Amino acid sequence: DFLVVGGGPAGMQASIEAGQRGADIIIIDDKDRLGGQLLKQTHTFFSDVKYAAGKRGFKLGEQMIAELSELPNVKVLTETSAVGYYPKEDVMLMKRPGNATLKVRAKKYLVSTGAYEKTLVFENNDIPGVYGAGGVQTLLNVFGVKPGNRGILLGTGNVALMVAYHLIQAGIEVAGVYAPSFSRVRGYFVHAAKIQRFGVPIVTRHTIVKALGKNEVKGAVITRLNPDYSPAEGSQFTVDCDFICIGVGLNPAYDLVQLFNPKMVNNGTLGGMVPIRDKTFRFAPNAYIAGDCGSIEEATTAMLEGGLAGLYVTEALGRGDEGVTAKIEEYTHALEEDRGSPFSTRLKAAIEEITVENIEEVLN
Ligand SMILES: Cc1cc2nc3c(=O)[nH]c(=O)nc-3n(C[C@H](O)[C@H](O)[C@H](O)COP(=O)(O)OP(=O)(O)OC[C@H]3O[C@@H](n4cnc5c(N)ncnc54)[C@H](O)[C@@H]3O)c2cc1C
Repeated sequence: DFLVVGGGPAGMQASIEAGQRGADIIIIDDKDRLGGQLLKQTHTFFSDVKYAAGKRGFKLGEQMIAELSELPNVKVLTETSAVGYYPKEDVMLMKRPGNATLKVRAKKYLVSTGAYEKTLVFENNDIPGVYGAGGVQTLLNVFGVKPGNRGILLGTGNVALMVAYHLIQAGIEVAGVYAPSFSRVRGYFVHAAKIQRFGVPIVTRHTIVKALGKNEVKGAVITRLNPDYSPAEGSQFTVDCDFICIGVGLNPAYDLVQLFNPKMVNNGTLGGMVPIRDKTFRFAPNAYIAGDCGSIEEATTAMLEGGLAGLYVTEALGRGDEGVTAKIEEYTHALEEDRGSPFSTRLKAAIEEITVENIEEVLN
């Protein structure tokens, strides 16, 4: 009935809601276990207590995996990557361990493939020891591997600030957090304050120009920026470090989305290229979207969107009833509340911009 690609909070919640109402589901993930970003989140979440607040991300992931394991109609395939969707044949092609392939035709598809990390262009940015922040978080919190002994962070969004804190917790020295933003730290004040209490300098209006070293990182050259973002002459200095961690934001992972021939738009507030969709999260005749691959937000919104997509798919499969309608109302209200803070005004407007009443009109 329903093929879910991507087993993060969005894909898992969609599978739980549709699975509890009897749909036959396959959920796939390219990693060796479900969970997506939640697996590496050792910190407790904010937002609504009913959904995630107060829980640690990986605990929330474990709870969702346990819920899924109780549903015999939900088949979980890990280490399985969706590598292509062919609209004419209406078939999803997947790569499985040992180079095996699998083709699946489903009545409905959900793309919940998450996001890619953005990176920065600077001299020597390809030497070992230059990491994405998500990569460092995976090394530390999933595999228990230190990325180095003394590092710097680039970026002051929540991801960068959170990873700086995780590094400190793992006994690794954070020499500084640098970001080109002019006005302020971009992430929550509480995350910034946590690392500042450990004496880590957070330096805005600065960026990296070069990684030192050949086969490994030996340091980083940092520059102050002029108001037009050009490097300020004579302001360069070197920071001793053996790794550089880039946490400058995420782009929706839209590769698979595009193969359904949707109408794509570039929306900076939502992270980049995203498809126009309707209120049921449908962006192509038989395909739905939820989570970071449709708009870069948070785990709670990914869960709520996934839950809603799962319920709308349930209705589209002819399994709707009063209970489904009531649950849709509950999730919709929670999502509105979640996006109701003054910080989310632009995001809310951007979501409204890409959500249409009638998706058929857009696709035809
Ligand atoms: C450092 C950090 C801290 C965060 N802290 C918080 C927080 O405190 N509170 C909060 O609410 N949110 C937080 N977030 C954000 C939250 O983790 C994400 O918004 C959320 O995980 C998005 O869920 P998702 O299901 O859309 O994607 P993901 O969790 O990224 O899951 C997508 C899954 O799809 C898989 N996949 C991708 N492509 C394919 C393919 N072709 N075939 C098969 N599988 C595929 C991926 O491997 C991944 O497992 C944080 C994020 C980061 C990086």
